[in-house]
Amino acid sequence: MKVAVLSRNKKLYSTRRLVEAGEALGHEVHVVDTLRCYMNIATAKPTIHYAGKPLEGFDAVIPRIGASITFYGAAVLRQFEMMGVYPLNESVAITRSRDKLRSLQLLSRKGVGLPVSGFAHSPGDINDLLQMVGGTPVVIKLLEGTQGIGVVLAETKKAAESVIEAFMGLKANILVQEYVKEAGGADIRCFVVGDRVVAAMKRQAQPGEFRSNLHRGGSASLVKITPKERQAALKAAQVMGLNVAGVDLLRAEAGPKIMEVNSSPGLEGIENASGKDVATMIYRHLEKVMESNKATTKTR
Ligand code: ADP
Ligand code: GLU
Repeated sequence: MKVAVLSRNKKLYSTRRLVEAGEALGHEVHVVDTLRCYMNIATAKPTIHYAGKPLEGFDAVIPRIGASITFYGAAVLRQFEMMGVYPLNESVAITRSRDKLRSLQLLSRKGVGLPVSGFAHSPGDINDLLQMVGGTPVVIKLLEGTQGIGVVLAETKKAAESVIEAFMGLKANILVQEYVKEAGGADIRCFVVGDRVVAAMKRQAQPGEFRSNLHRGGSASLVKITPKERQAALKAAQVMGLNVAGVDLLRAEAGPKIMEVNSSPGLEGIENASGKDVATMIYRHLEKVMESNKATTKTR
């Protein structure tokens, strides 16, 4: 296969591993800098240009699109799709996953377990909103946040009200969520490839912190997930329309609660924690899809 890895930086761990693993399997792998692609849209034959030349002959594209370039990245990926190049994850699925609220709405419609979550615009509705999610403590999340920034735990009603008011005053979109205390500052990242969870890790927050993000000092370790957790992770990826996904869930008393479905999950943490060669598994999946001729995009 001739494969394009859409990535801004050749040196990133995930990008390097995707090149290494693909080449070891005999594929021709090119790293294509997403922001250096330019496109002629108004022709009968869609093309992408790169450093003065058209990109040609690709069978598949592996998108690694950072949150800060979602809009342009999705447009470039869409152009690959128009050219008939098979995307590991489709542009619509990536765009969908970048919107936390839209993701939760789609997941809840399909009966995936979620933390009780509320969303409101007007400060006048804060009281009712807090009641709706079961009262304090609550977790308040900036919809645009990543890496745990803009995720606040409010223990009391007074604290919750002032944080929500402050965010609303700044015109920020927020989500108010039930605090899953029994998760004990830990979450589980399930790495989904195709119809399998190929690796999982537990991330534990530092003492005194409830956010388990590795960027917030959390630590990762190998974990064995339950059949229910496996099912929930696979279903979440499927509802989002993602072939490869990092599904984050909380271990709640009532069972797994899905927090987030990531469409460009990093390989470093999961490969180190699990000792598994996830990059090769991604290529094995791609090979299978391409061989079975099922390499068409599902939703446009
Ligand atoms: P981000 O996308 O910025 O990482 P998350 O929604 O994943 O934000 O939240 C960051 C961390 O905070 C999670 O990894 C988890 O450990 C913790 N957390 C988030 N929501 C809840 C919740 N409702 N109950 C308990 N812990 C939570
Ligand atoms: N048509 C898809 C659905 O209803 C996509 C909707 C969306 O991504 O918001 O599941």
